[in-house]
Order: sequence, then C-alpha cells, then structure tokens
Amino acid sequence: AAKRSGSGGYAVFESHMNDGVGEQIELQQALREALQAGQLKLHYQPKVDSRSGCVCGIEALLRWTHPTRGPISPAVFIPIAERFGLIIAIGNWVIDEACRQMALWSELGLRMRVSINVSAYQLRQPDMVDRVQQALYRHGVDADQLVCEITESVAMEDTMATQRVIEQLGDLGVKLSIDDFGTGYSSLSSLRQIGAQELKIDRSFVKDVATNADARAVVDAVVRLGHALGLRVVAEGVENRLQRETLLELGCDEFQGFYLARPMAPDALLQADLRMSEGSEALQFSPSTMM
Ligand code: C2E
Ligand code: MG
Ligand code: MG
Ligand code: MG
Repeated sequence: AAKRSGSGGYAVFESHMNDGVGEQIELQQALREALQAGQLKLHYQPKVDSRSGCVCGIEALLRWTHPTRGPISPAVFIPIAERFGLIIAIGNWVIDEACRQMALWSELGLRMRVSINVSAYQLRQPDMVDRVQQALYRHGVDADQLVCEITESVAMEDTMATQRVIEQLGDLGVKLSIDDFGTGYSSLSSLRQIGAQELKIDRSFVKDVATNADARAVVDAVVRLGHALGLRVVAEGVENRLQRETLLELGCDEFQGFYLARPMAPDALLQADLRMSEGSEALQFSPSTMM
C-alpha cells in the first residue's frame, strides 16, 4: 500500500509539474506564432480629466486571442513572454503599433496622447531608446505624444542600465508615468529624480476608496505627494460613481476605469467618440484638451 501511494504521489506530482511547464511552453509558442502572424492587437482605454470630463489620453493594452482557448489576459501572457525572452519582440511591436495608430488618428485630426506599458526587460535594453525614436520618426509622431508607463517597482529599480534608459527616454521628450503606484516602495528622492509627469494610483486603493478609511487615507496621501512633486495623479480602475466622486473630492486629476470607458478596439473608440460627445455626462474627445 505504501509503495502504491508513494508511486501514485510521485506520478501525480510529476505529471502536475509537467503540465505547468508544458502549458507555458505551449503558450509561448502560440504567442510567438501570433506575433509573427500579426494576430496581437492593441485596445485603447481613455483617461478622462476629472474636472472637464474630456479625454486627455488613452492607454494601449495588449490583446491576444488564442486559437482554441480564446482571449488570454496580458496579466497571464506578459509574464510568460518575459520568462521566455519574447517580451522584447512583443514590446517593440507595441511601440511601433501604438505610433502607427497615433499617425492614423492624426490624419483624422485627433492628436491623441497614447500611453504604452513598458516591461522591466525592455528598460534594460540599451537600444530601447533607439527603438522608440525610430518608431516615432517612422510614423511622424511627436515624442511628447507618447507616454511610457513603468510600474513603480521597476521605476525604482536601482540598476544603472534601467535608470539610464529612463533618463534617455525623458531626454527624447517621451512622457513617463509611474504605474500601479502604492504597491511598490519608492524613496521620495528617487521619485523626484525619475522625472515622471504622472502617477497612477493602483486599482487596489481605488477599489476601496469610498468604503475604507485606510484606502482613502492612502489615496489622499498619494494625491498630495504627487501634487507636491508636480505630477498629474491618475486613478485607475474606477468602477462606480461613488468612487469617482470620492476621488474628485480627494483631488485626483484623471480617471480611468470601466465606469468611464472600457478598453476598446481603435474603430470602436472613434464610434464611442461620436456617440458620447452628444450627451452631457459624456466622454468628449477634444483635440485642444488632448495634450
Ligand atoms: P495596467 O497597465 O495597470 O493596466 C490596467 C488594467 O486594468 C488593464 O488590464 C485594464 O483592462 C484593467 N482595467 C481598466 N479599468 C478597469 C476597471 O474599472 N476595473 C477593472 N477590474 N479593471 C480595469 P489588462 O488589459 O488585462 O492588463 C493587465 C496588465 O497587463 C496591465 O496592467 C499591464 O501591466 C500589462 N500589460 C497590458 N498590455 C501590456 C503591454 O503592451 N506591454 C506590457 N509590458 N504589459 C502590458
Ligand atoms: Mg498601465
Ligand atoms: Mg496600472
Ligand atoms: Mg495595474
């Protein structure tokens, strides 16, 4: 009996492990193929000025539909791409695609400011800045139309390579945003040095801001800190009116979340523009307030 259970336990353990790794290898292979076949997409989620209600920018979010499993979240496949060395190719595609889309919008008279999410691995590449510069040039996009979102933990990463790339992006005129703020730990001096223009309060604090005194106190403190450093403070993951009202009261500059708009394909975004600009509580794309 002992032998049976022993070998059974081992077999279960082994097959379980194989499944995990095998699944990741399968996913990264499918992801590689999707990238090569041009099947990755960017969706765009508006960021709305808290006072005027105008769209002041949009965030590009990667979308992948697996041929048999359906849509897979970037929260799942980005870590896999990072682990298997695919993130640089994917990141380069995102940079180019976002610039291409900005150029298309420009032709329609919409000068959109677009934020892209940048992985720690990209920031350790010395040629990252060249990539960005070339994409901007190729599509005729101004550097200050592009925002790089870097998560707090990566932005505070204390390696020379990362800090150099961040600094060079800033020199190029690209805007910097510190994403998921509140989940990492920043020293106040590095926060000041990094040269960002924007701070995005993590969704976990936004979620409870109207119902939990601690979450509210954190948001309050982050808004004050951001403003003291001259940064625009954005709340991500705003899902209801109560959250929006509380965040406005606390002085947040911009809102982003399902309550305002979901991430959308580029054509849907333009239709949303037309439909929404009729109502009063509506999203408005105003070229003058876009930047
Ligand atoms: P993030 O940059 O913090 O993006 C915000 C995430 O919150 C997005 O999830 C967005 O769809 C979601 N979201 C927006 N509003 C709401 C809301 O009101 N409620 C809720 N529950 N969620 C909301 P998504 O698209 O699944 O992306 C997840 C993460 O994957 C992103 O977090 C980002 O870290 C990463 N990611 C996405 N696209 C890229 C990319 O092109 N490159 C890299 N390196 N990472 C990416
Ligand atoms: Mg982001
Ligand atoms: Mg975020
Ligand atoms: Mg987040």
